[in-house]
Amino acid sequence: MSIDPVLGCCDQPGLMPFEQALELLLASVTATRAIESVPLHQALGRVLAADQCAGLDVPPHDNSAMDGYAVRVADLRVAAGASLLISQRIPAGADPQPLQPGTVARIFTGATLPAGADAVVMQEHVQQQGADRVVMPVDARLGDHIRQRGQDIAKGDAVIAAGVRLQPQHLGVLASIGLAEFPCFKRLRVAVLSSGDELAQPGQIARPGQIYNSNRYCLIGLVQQLGMELVDLGTVEDSLAATQAVLADAAQRADCIITSGGVSVGEEDHIKAAVESLGEISLWKLAIKPGKPLAFGRVAGVPFIGLPGNPVSALMCFQVLARPVLLRLQGDSGSVRGGVHLPIQFSRSKPQQRREYLRVRRVDGENGVELCPYPNQSSGVLTSAAWADGYAVIPAGATVAVGDLVEFIAFTELR
Ligand code: AMP
Ligand code: MG
Repeated sequence: MSIDPVLGCCDQPGLMPFEQALELLLASVTATRAIESVPLHQALGRVLAADQCAGLDVPPHDNSAMDGYAVRVADLRVAAGASLLISQRIPAGADPQPLQPGTVARIFTGATLPAGADAVVMQEHVQQQGADRVVMPVDARLGDHIRQRGQDIAKGDAVIAAGVRLQPQHLGVLASIGLAEFPCFKRLRVAVLSSGDELAQPGQIARPGQIYNSNRYCLIGLVQQLGMELVDLGTVEDSLAATQAVLADAAQRADCIITSGGVSVGEEDHIKAAVESLGEISLWKLAIKPGKPLAFGRVAGVPFIGLPGNPVSALMCFQVLARPVLLRLQGDSGSVRGGVHLPIQFSRSKPQQRREYLRVRRVDGENGVELCPYPNQSSGVLTSAAWADGYAVIPAGATVAVGDLVEFIAFTELR
């Protein structure tokens, strides 16, 4: 990869670099979510509002990692191959007696080790003799097949930090320290609105000149994937009064408003004027492709993001620009990890003014996993995103050749 010094430089006349846009967006919002107690079984996808510390060791006792016999290693040496008495039976969940000297205890996986035992011998290595005696190997190592108390979590450990969006494994850990509920930030309410007279609803007959509204469903899914509460505002016609009315209502019901379309400065683009009349707005031309026009502002104090109308632009701008803003508002400390770098199956011999997000799929190639682009990268071709499993990011000003390593951001990283 080589970068053109002029096009690759952050200062493109009239175009705002991606990093600057993201910085401005993030700097303009703070997390002020109220906190509520959420029961364990409803907490998937919720954002933890306070560090959670363990009030106990996990596991709470030394316990057996095998079905077998709890022993004192020194007793095995003394017995030297003679049989030993089975003095107790300890299934999982039982509270055992101390191990009598010179005896062994039958024990099962997960059962608490009796005081005095210092190893577990697997049942496969033992010969039963009558109902209550066993011949043991002469030796075992101290600690064999014992899971130490606190080996997972020690009492007082901070187990999950505030700001984590809870995944199934987090819920398991919180359950393992006995918590039935914990404080989470209230779910962010995100309003989604599509603008355009050309938009027909799926399920209805599209009149001549109409297209089906795809952004609405794409954006609804994106909001829901983030675990946020959707305020679905449907579609608004291309008129100033209607746009003002729906935005004013949205500001009453949502913590952030996201629209698609209508942010250019054509006669039929009313989002800008409507937001301006109810608050403030900045229109940016971003140095990214797809997705040049982006609007940001406030409607009656509520953060507003106006995504471009083209379906791929709307999707991509949501994922890379709106998503970090929503996460911050929600109190979620997550962000996009830097992508991995993978060899590409395509080339770009002419440097572009804008950073490009190509829809690509990971495929097995000559150099291992390689990035194969969808043939049509137009911002109106939404099937490119349905086919792809992520973006290959070509920096502004870069030329790339087949086999070059390029940053790949998987869609799964953007949930
Ligand atoms: P606009 O930004 O309103 O000029 O829209 C740009 C392009 O995106 C136009 O071709 C629109 O028809 C299309 N578009 C806008 N909104 C949507 C939507 N909700 N679903 C599908 N396409 C849309
Ligand atoms: Mg429009």
